[in-house]
Amino acid sequence: MSRKVADCRDTPNLVGCTLMISGEEEEVVRAASDHAIAVHGHADTPELREQVRATLKDEFVPSVAPSAGASDTL
Ligand SMILES: [Zn+2]
Repeated sequence: MSRKVADCRDTPNLVGCTLMISGEEEEVVRAASDHAIAVHGHADTPELREQVRATLKDEFVPSVAPSAGASDTL
């Protein structure tokens, strides 16, 4: 299942917040909405959740993962 990312830097905000939240969509919508209410001073409304949902992006997953076992080349 792909994960979603909410990034405060994507939306102009008065508090200069740079938080990034990632997880499954419903988790991110819930956490980012709570965060927006607590930190950004948004009102707790269904509209806020829809706005948060609209800003979600797919989580970036690097296509080349560090291979296990090659760590002794450090
Ligand atoms: Zn924020």
